[in-house]
Amino acid sequence: MNVAVTYEEALASVLPIVRTQEVRRVTLADVAGEILARDVMADRNIPPFPRAAMDGFAVVWSGREVDLPYRVIGTVNPGGDWSGNASGADCIRIMTGARVPPPFDTVIQVELSEVDGGGNVRFIGPVKRGANIAEEGEDVRKGSLLIGTGTLLSPHHVATLSSVGQWEVPVYKRPSVAVLATGSELLEPWESAQGPMIRNSNSHFLLAALKGLGFTDVRYLGIVPDEREQIVSKIREGLDCDFLLLSGGVSVGDVDIVPDCLKECGVRKILHKVAVKPGKPIFAGESPGGGIVIGLPGNPVAVMVHFHMFIRPLLLKASGATEYLPKPIHLPLAKSATNKSGGKKFTIARLESNGGETRVAEIPSHGSGDFVSANGADGVFEIPLGTVELPAGHTVRFYPIWGNFFSGDEDR
Ligand code: AMP
Ligand code: MG
Repeated sequence: MNVAVTYEEALASVLPIVRTQEVRRVTLADVAGEILARDVMADRNIPPFPRAAMDGFAVVWSGREVDLPYRVIGTVNPGGDWSGNASGADCIRIMTGARVPPPFDTVIQVELSEVDGGGNVRFIGPVKRGANIAEEGEDVRKGSLLIGTGTLLSPHHVATLSSVGQWEVPVYKRPSVAVLATGSELLEPWESAQGPMIRNSNSHFLLAALKGLGFTDVRYLGIVPDEREQIVSKIREGLDCDFLLLSGGVSVGDVDIVPDCLKECGVRKILHKVAVKPGKPIFAGESPGGGIVIGLPGNPVAVMVHFHMFIRPLLLKASGATEYLPKPIHLPLAKSATNKSGGKKFTIARLESNGGETRVAEIPSHGSGDFVSANGADGVFEIPLGTVELPAGHTVRFYPIWGNFFSGDEDR
């Protein structure tokens, strides 16, 4: 008898055996979507010099700027420089981004200036000492940590990497992943399906989801019928990879022989039942070579949900990420929701905005076989284990695992 563990226990029992990969270097163009393998520090102060934050005039502050006519004794453009002596009645013309040269310490924006008939400048408003200058090191001090090891890099990180001269960036290699579908009822999408046969959607979902997360070392093993020798032989192929993801055949039906076949291949069982809906029968194990084997139930919605809620954390951890658990957003429910599963339930939902408030709306579904219902989903929300009903307005944990957060409505 397999005892059901909680979703949290399931993750906690597999995560410790996940190993990270080696480090490789990629150039800036390829770094978004990769996971940083070394801390990135500031190689200089940011800003690296006192920087004019406005177009205008640099003066030596005295507090009497509105009383004086100023003589313009030079100009500094970004990237340019100026040096010389300046008296209290001298100023230089300066542009945004330029270094403010000594002895100047204050920039008065061009909007507060008037050039008089004699070619002098007068200022028409008071200024504070240091106005409109970003001080050297005000954002970041040289040597401080900018991006930590294990960060999943996005385009905005690329801006930081560029600014500190990191153009060949150490990132973690991704683990290799094998995908196998089991089920005698399965045909590939390019085959004509008739009678009791259905098309394999799980594998192609998994391949697409892996690609979306940046996994490129992926081996697709195809479909195998519910026949022991064939399953065993395909499992053996898949065990060469760091991860083997199977779908189908892990439940309690007569033809659900995948766990037995895995055992025959030397896979050590870690768990085989998780108190979670959809998809209670989930198998997780460790291969003789230290790889991770996950057997998902065949139900397509369970495969989709568990890829994000259970497998993705493992894959991200194996890729060196320090933040790999799904991050919930706490939002109110649009309508009451029920959980008759006796475990934790992840319910497919979309976000609705109404009168300045965003609510989580359950998507009506016929159950975990109804994968078409996921098409309009933004993610899932959680009904905790032991909770049978949540009232409308109750704050739930919503996981935005699918959403495209664009709108067709211009007046939001
Ligand atoms: P199983 O976990 O093998 O009992 O399968 C549960 C349900 O999921 C059955 O209705 C299967 O036909 C269906 N199913 C299994 N594998 C796939 C697959 N690769 N693609 C789509 N549906 C599947
Ligand atoms: Mg099956």
